[in-house]
Amino acid sequence: PFSLAGKRVWVAGHRGMVGAAIVRRLAREDCEVLVAERAALDLKNQSAVSAWMAAHRPDAVFLAAAKVGGILANATQPADFLFDNLMIEANVIEAAYRAGVGKLLFLGSSCIYPKLAEQPIVEEALLTGPLEPTNEWYAIAKIAGIKLVQAFRRQHGCDFISAMPTNLYGPGDNFDLASSHVAPALIRKVWEAKMRGDREIVVWGTGSPRREFLHVDDCADACVHLMKVYSDALPINIGCGEDITILELTRLVCEIAGFEGEIVHDLTKPDGTPRKLLDIGRIRSLGWSPTIPLKDGLRASLDWFLAEHAQES
Ligand code: GDP
Repeated sequence: PFSLAGKRVWVAGHRGMVGAAIVRRLAREDCEVLVAERAALDLKNQSAVSAWMAAHRPDAVFLAAAKVGGILANATQPADFLFDNLMIEANVIEAAYRAGVGKLLFLGSSCIYPKLAEQPIVEEALLTGPLEPTNEWYAIAKIAGIKLVQAFRRQHGCDFISAMPTNLYGPGDNFDLASSHVAPALIRKVWEAKMRGDREIVVWGTGSPRREFLHVDDCADACVHLMKVYSDALPINIGCGEDITILELTRLVCEIAGFEGEIVHDLTKPDGTPRKLLDIGRIRSLGWSPTIPLKDGLRASLDWFLAEHAQES
């Protein structure tokens, strides 16, 4: 096992939803947390990343920095999703090797798995079939990151690992409707419909795709656990083990927000992959399981959105 006690731990991407949650979670560990502001360090710049790593010498790295977004953002910014993510992960992983970082955890995503992978998806499904085209740019970049981790393990003996979280939501989420994922989008749409007194809210697609949702604080807890106990070339899934349809999710958000209008479908928008449920047997066998029920988590997420929103207006 790898101990974080007394270590210098860099959370790359600490302004993002996952990185921020990891920073919050690390407050309970006896370690020194390092962060680099975006203005001070461009992770797409190799020499800047090398210099930062050499100057700050972290013992461990959580690589949570990425260009992320929902189904529409992926479709409209393919170059950014592929290029930015390739650059970030290549720079950080290679610099970590050269700086002698003792442990690195690279965060991927469940969209790396084949579109028609058998459900629930086991880690071994990686690269066994074609990807979901709506997010293949992001997926290809993340698969390259997993391969970098495996290659540096194999060639240089680095203790680098990859974790694949399912769809995440929670405080710090992106609530911009053009680029967000479905959970924050629905929270915002339903709340605003209620405030305006609308009779209906619009859901993209048929509502029948199934997705698994994990609160980001559960994900951060899993990442810290894996940093300590996991050391294998195979990526490891992080999820809650249960999925629901987009329509069921919408109903749940309506219930939490107290919105009683109708749910209508915008069929010009894509459904994406029909189902995405991770098999979490491997991480469970390492003694970790999720603790935040979806309903509680969504309520907390709505509260966070309202608090942020109040600050804006
Ligand atoms: P995905 O999990 O990579 O497909 O990404 P998303 O979280 O963006 O979308 C998940 C599913 O929710 C897709 O079937 C979307 O069409 C559907 N969905 C329904 N309403 C919305 C919405 O308002 N925003 C987003 N992003 N997705 C929505």
